[in-house]
Amino acid sequence: MRVTMYAVSGILRFQLETEKNDILEPSEKFRLGSRIVEIHLPSGLDPDSIHPDHIALCIIMITHPFIGDSLVLPKPVSERFSKFHNLKSSRYSIGPVDQNLKPWEPGINYRPGLAFSGGVDSTAALAVMPPTTAPVFMDRPTGKKSLYNKDAVIQSCLQVQRLGYDMRLIQCDLEYVRDPVGFPVDVANSVPAVLMADYLKLDCIGFGTIMESTYGTGHRLFRDYPNGTHYTYWGGLFKAAGLPFILPVAGISEVGTSIIVSQAPLGMVAQSCMRGVWKKPCLNCWKCFRKQLLDNAILKNQVEAQYLDELFNNKEASRFLGRVPIKHENVLAWSTHRLNSEHQLYSLLKERVQGHKEKLEWLEKWYSPSIDLIPEKYQEKIKEKISRYLLTMNELEEQELTSWDMNDIISSEKVAKQSLRLSQEMSSRLRPRR
Ligand SMILES: [Zn+2]
Repeated sequence: MRVTMYAVSGILRFQLETEKNDILEPSEKFRLGSRIVEIHLPSGLDPDSIHPDHIALCIIMITHPFIGDSLVLPKPVSERFSKFHNLKSSRYSIGPVDQNLKPWEPGINYRPGLAFSGGVDSTAALAVMPPTTAPVFMDRPTGKKSLYNKDAVIQSCLQVQRLGYDMRLIQCDLEYVRDPVGFPVDVANSVPAVLMADYLKLDCIGFGTIMESTYGTGHRLFRDYPNGTHYTYWGGLFKAAGLPFILPVAGISEVGTSIIVSQAPLGMVAQSCMRGVWKKPCLNCWKCFRKQLLDNAILKNQVEAQYLDELFNNKEASRFLGRVPIKHENVLAWSTHRLNSEHQLYSLLKERVQGHKEKLEWLEKWYSPSIDLIPEKYQEKIKEKISRYLLTMNELEEQELTSWDMNDIISSEKVAKQSLRLSQEMSSRLRPRR
């Protein structure tokens, strides 16, 4: 693939030109969509001043799944950056290279950036990061048909700004490169932050990636994230561009980030539902279903039958609950261990997820070996901030995490039957919402 770039009145534009061996349909799930990407940069930032390695890193994030055997960049990159990529990627090489180009290095007083989404996890990340952190929201232009409602997240960003953060909203349509729309790679939401790294004086790029995504909790098996391919390749590539990852909540589960958000002063800005409006989640999506149970469990609330009737009247959730494992099953197990009700559908759910016999107390705690996923400069301060909200796992609890294994549950016939019954009972009772 060849990518050219040009800037017209504050808009940086990448144009993708495919070549013979490029992969137009990387999987049955998605294909290459739009071949033009536009990023609306702040007026004070001259696109020509952006370091070529940062441009390259962004182009790789945008095009990675679609590149066949080579990527020709608009500007030659440093030897350090190209070497790292070309050693690590077996599929394609990048170029051209300028032997004389100095790799980018941050200044001593630079600060972290954060790819901010307004959700619970990235809000928790921001809450434990230094107050100088620059959160950057990638604002995707939406079409009329989209269920995605931007109102809530824009409000979140404005609240973050009001609280004194150097919060940036950058319009960028890179998600349309994928058809159906979505991030080409999971770290692509950091493209605006990477492009502005020098302008905003950033020395690392943060993500609200939680334990479920890093260490695999809630999935089939524990994953040794720091030595896995995602961190080695993407973390390494960011580092080669002078911008290492900072993953402050990588050792914290969704239970932990929700606890942080319920207690931190910044917590009020978080909203996990992408369809509701500010302070009014839709209560009709899978995220809302899971979050309602979790928040009630954190607050040790009594849940009334009438409330559960409403909660279980959720079509999307009935689909998600019919899967084995259920997405973030660990979080549902933790919540149902702490909420009591004789409500029939709730009891079916509780039975279904109680294959996890222990109360999973370690999900409320911080896995301290994850400190290695934070640049040394920030480790002490972030550790101190996390400890304001969460206890640290002891050795035994760490073992429970590192021995996480759902294979028995996934292959169990009993669980399969419970799962079917739950989703059938739930869907048979669906009724129009009031
Ligand atoms: Zn919702």
